[in-house]
Amino acid sequence: MRRGMVIDLEKCIGCRSCAVACKQHNAQPAGSWWNRVVTPGSDRHLTASTPENLYFLPIHCQHCNNAPCVKVCPVGATYQTDDGTVLIDFERCIGCRYCMAACPYGVRQFNWESSKDGMQRYEYQNNYTYGYPEPFRLDNRLVYSPVRIKGVVEKCNFCVHYQDQGLDPACVRACPGKARHVGDLDDPDSRVSEMIRQMNGFTLLPEKGTRPNVYYLPPKRKEV
Ligand code: SF4
Ligand code: SF4
Ligand code: SF4
Repeated sequence: MRRGMVIDLEKCIGCRSCAVACKQHNAQPAGSWWNRVVTPGSDRHLTASTPENLYFLPIHCQHCNNAPCVKVCPVGATYQTDDGTVLIDFERCIGCRYCMAACPYGVRQFNWESSKDGMQRYEYQNNYTYGYPEPFRLDNRLVYSPVRIKGVVEKCNFCVHYQDQGLDPACVRACPGKARHVGDLDDPDSRVSEMIRQMNGFTLLPEKGTRPNVYYLPPKRKEV
């Protein structure tokens, strides 16, 4: 089993629902986005030079098979599970941020502020909360916490706390274009493997040798 994701860029309508759902379900503080949707070829949303050049590219952790972030972590906080998912143990992370420098996709975020300070600063209501309500442990490591921990690095965790229960990740469920799919990349008959094969799936920055488990299907209107 190799857990993977396929994002169909032809179907992505650029609504950013996946980014918002990710933020909400993972209780990310202000300023932190584990999932961003960018408009290649333009520095502004919806303003590519010509309509045929316009497409949207959601970017989050690519769950690399050959992950530089895992290699540089001095305390083994960033690690890879048997199914290829790259996770962070928040109890081991010492906040050195080597992994942020090592990641060629720029998807890691540093948590500068405690949840309590963030809530006070933004004047959230008392007891305001969002996200999955419980901490989640995998391999006896704390890989999800609804209460953000100050001084650690965070990123997309492939929603392991949902996938473990047989549910799709929050971004997959939120996508109105049905552009996002998860499945087993080791199984040649899985839907994701078929999509990659039949629709010329590709990975980002192949020249970096990271071998991501996140694949993209090209938008028909533009070669990527
Ligand atoms: S995308 Fe970055 S954070 Fe994610 S596994 Fe690859 S190197 Fe690590
Ligand atoms: S910031 Fe945390 S996860 Fe990143 S390399 Fe340092 S200890 Fe490891
Ligand atoms: S899989 Fe979960 S953590 Fe990763 S981008 Fe989707 S919603 Fe965010």
